[in-house]
Amino acid sequence: MDIRICKECGFILGTRPNSKDKDGVCLACHNKDRKNQINWQERQNWLTQYLKERKNPSSNYDVVVGVSGGKDSCAIVKRLIENHGVEPSRLLLVHVMDEFTPSKAGLYNLDNLVKTFDMDLIHFRLAPKTFVKETRKSFFEELHPLKWIEAQLYAKPLEVAKAYQIPTVFMGENFDFEYGVSEECGIFHSSSSDEVNVIFLGSIWPYSNTDSLKQARQIGFKTLSDFDDWQRQGSADDYTQIDSIGYMMQHWTKFIKFGFQRVSDLACRFVREGVMSKEQALRLIKDKDWVCDPAAKKDFCRTIGISEDEFNATVDKFANKDLLVKDENGNWRRRDLI
Ligand SMILES: [Zn+2]
Repeated sequence: MDIRICKECGFILGTRPNSKDKDGVCLACHNKDRKNQINWQERQNWLTQYLKERKNPSSNYDVVVGVSGGKDSCAIVKRLIENHGVEPSRLLLVHVMDEFTPSKAGLYNLDNLVKTFDMDLIHFRLAPKTFVKETRKSFFEELHPLKWIEAQLYAKPLEVAKAYQIPTVFMGENFDFEYGVSEECGIFHSSSSDEVNVIFLGSIWPYSNTDSLKQARQIGFKTLSDFDDWQRQGSADDYTQIDSIGYMMQHWTKFIKFGFQRVSDLACRFVREGVMSKEQALRLIKDKDWVCDPAAKKDFCRTIGISEDEFNATVDKFANKDLLVKDENGNWRRRDLI
C-alpha cells in the first residue's frame, strides 16, 4: 500500500476514518480556506443575541459547559463571560472524570478556572468498575480503549442540562470540520433538540490551538512544564490534553491502527495555523508520533488491571501492517518514516 501525505500540511491521507482529501490535499487544509470566508463577527453578534433570548428564569443556570480544565475549557468560559455577557453565576460547569491519574497541571487548571470566575462545578464521576469493564472491553476487542468514556464526556453535560432545564450546552472545536471529516462549519451540533441546543464555540470564533492557549494563559493556565510530575513523551506540545495521564493511550492506539496520533494532529494543525513549516511538522512526526509515553502506558495498564505484556500483545494483534513495521527495538513505526 502506498502511503500518501497531504501536500500542504504533511498529514497521512486516507487512514483517518471518514476523512476526505482532494488533489493530494486533506480536507482540513481545504477547510482552512473555508474558514477565512466565514463572517465571524456576524456569528459572534448572533450568539450574544441568542443568549439574551434564551435566558431561563425557571432554572438557576442559562448555559452548561462540559470542561476538562484544559485550554479550550478556559477559552470557552472566558469568551462566554467576557464577550457574550454570560454571568458566571448562570454558567454551570460539568466535569466528567475518568479513573486514570490526573496530572498536577490538570488539577491546578480546573481549580483555577472555577476560582477565577467563581462558578458552580459538578464533578461527574462514573461508576469506577463500569469504567474499567468498558475500557477493557473496547481495548481488547477494538483497540479503541476510551470509546465508552468519550461517549460519556459528550452525553453527561447534555443530561445535566436536561435535568436542570438549561437550554444550551457549549463545546469547543467543531471536530469534524477541524479534522477534515466534514466541509460544514455549522453552529449547532446534530444532537441539538427542542430541549437543549449544543453549540460549538469553534463555529463562533475561529478555532486555533494558538488562540485557545493565549486565552487560557490570560487567566493563569499552566502547562505540564510548570510542574514536575509528568515529562510527557510522544507529544508535540506540553499544553493540550494534559489533564489525565492514562488517557493518552486513546491517542497512541490510533497510531497503531491508522498510522497517526497526536503529534501528527497537532503538528499539521500548527502548519495550518501558520506557526510551523511543513518540513518541521514532518520531522516532528517522524521523531515522535510513534513514541508511546511510558507513564501513560503504566497508568493505563494499572487502572484497568492488565499487565504491560497483555497490552503489548493486544497492540501487536491490531497493528496495521500495511502502514507499520517493527524497528530493531520492537517499536511499531510508520514504514515510510523508519
Ligand atoms: Zn493537509
